[in-house]
Amino acid sequence: MKPWETNIRKVVPYVPGEQPDQQHVIKLNTNENPYPPAPGVMESLYAFDADRLRLYPDPEAKVLVNALAKRYRVKPEQVFVGVGSDDVLAMAFLTFFHADKPILFPDITYSFYEVWADLLRIPYRKAPLNDHFRICREDYDTANGGVVFPNPNAPTGELESLEVVEDILQHNQDVIVIVDEAYIDFGGKSALPLIEQYDNLLVVQTFSKSRSLAGMRIGYAFGSPELIGYLNDVKFSFNSYTMNQLTLTAGAAALEDEAYFRKTIHKIKATRERMKEAFRELGFVFGDSQSNFLFVTHPRAAAKELFEALKQEHIYVRYFAKPRIDNYLRITIGTDEQMDILVDFLRTYLKK
Ligand code: PMP
Repeated sequence: MKPWETNIRKVVPYVPGEQPDQQHVIKLNTNENPYPPAPGVMESLYAFDADRLRLYPDPEAKVLVNALAKRYRVKPEQVFVGVGSDDVLAMAFLTFFHADKPILFPDITYSFYEVWADLLRIPYRKAPLNDHFRICREDYDTANGGVVFPNPNAPTGELESLEVVEDILQHNQDVIVIVDEAYIDFGGKSALPLIEQYDNLLVVQTFSKSRSLAGMRIGYAFGSPELIGYLNDVKFSFNSYTMNQLTLTAGAAALEDEAYFRKTIHKIKATRERMKEAFRELGFVFGDSQSNFLFVTHPRAAAKELFEALKQEHIYVRYFAKPRIDNYLRITIGTDEQMDILVDFLRTYLKK
């Protein structure tokens, strides 16, 4: 090691799913939406006057904050926005997890939590999910420095009821509880209404999945005005202009087309349920995913080999070489046509 390397902050980074640059791949590895964003998004971008780019964007991102407040029937002071929910979550970790006691999150969950905790020197403890990959609520009934979990969980797709979420809140009123609802639009009830009752609750959502805007990078959070205030203080101490002008415009436009939003989600959910039948027939074992992906294992086919075989066919899914889940594949729900090609391949593969 060179002398100047001694005092460098060293981290093991998060590894995002592959973004292959070949054209003809079936991309089911990063839970993107297979359908385009609402037509109004493109229209708003075409109408955008490039001269406005001379100016800095509104640091308070009011166009987007106000549109979110209106859509979700909350006050603008209860809304925070960021560059994807990854940015919102990272800011939230930095702002709210500052205790000596460990923060708690599930052992099988979004792997970025561990990376942020390591990066920010936040102590943490992983609470093991049960054999059905469900949260054991008692595990969150101990002294801690904060709680974070996705609902539905990733990569399992398992949804916990609002009763479980509220039970965790009940037992954790002296710390901040973050519920990461990246996939909530695909099933289940949001914890959003609970922010009125619990001023220590932060509910995080994203435009990346249900609104087909992963490439735009828009995430947001709802919480009490105090909580959002603290989050903004840290954001403004780090980077005032996280949201660029085009992003603000496109995000606000996306929120205007509720009918398109519902239609797209309905299609994805219908395909997901059809895929549950098809995968069951093929002998796969999986839970009742309420997200836009399935998390599957097969008693006769090793997940890693199947992952490689699919890649050979230019079908990308996600494989995690991690304890407890190293024989599973996470498969994003694509279009019906894409999923039919996948199922045809699996049928042949499993016959061999
Ligand atoms: N939370 C969970 C559980 C996720 O799976 C993802 C997607 N990788 C994110 C947050 C971040 O999504 P984005 O930054 O695109 O909003």
